[in-house]
Amino acid sequence: MIVLFWILIFLGTFFFMEFMAWFTHKYIMHGFLWSLHKDHHKKDHDSWFERNDAFFIFYAVVSIVLFLLWQYDIFWPGLPIGVGIFAYGVAYFLVHDIFIHQRFKMFRRINNRYARGVRRAHKMHHKNIGKGGGECFGMLVVPFKYFKK
Ligand SMILES: [Zn+2]
Ligand SMILES: [Zn+2]
Ligand SMILES: [Zn+2]
Repeated sequence: MIVLFWILIFLGTFFFMEFMAWFTHKYIMHGFLWSLHKDHHKKDHDSWFERNDAFFIFYAVVSIVLFLLWQYDIFWPGLPIGVGIFAYGVAYFLVHDIFIHQRFKMFRRINNRYARGVRRAHKMHHKNIGKGGGECFGMLVVPFKYFKK
């Protein structure tokens, strides 16, 4: 029974993280922490790292804390939640940083309907280089219109 809960909590966390990514992106990164996200929209530096990567570190710390809560028998769901956040981070990095932004030259030939839709939606997000306005703040879940043909 606990295995079932484990899986449900893991999947729930993964999908909740898509919501968190959307929320963080729309209201925090394009809000009071715009100074950290700005260099992702406007490349004004030569370093491979972006100040924007600070958000990865933030979620990594949250996931490590949950893992520790599990390890020290304080909170058993800490493990599935921590692993769910980590898995979402990996998925985000693969799709957003590698597939879309090509930070590593990989996955360039992926060309299915979902991949095209996600890329198109994120390019729309990047059309706007300012803090305000803009659209498509989500990552793995994007409006249906981008998947048409
Ligand atoms: Zn943005
Ligand atoms: Zn972005
Ligand atoms: Zn981007």
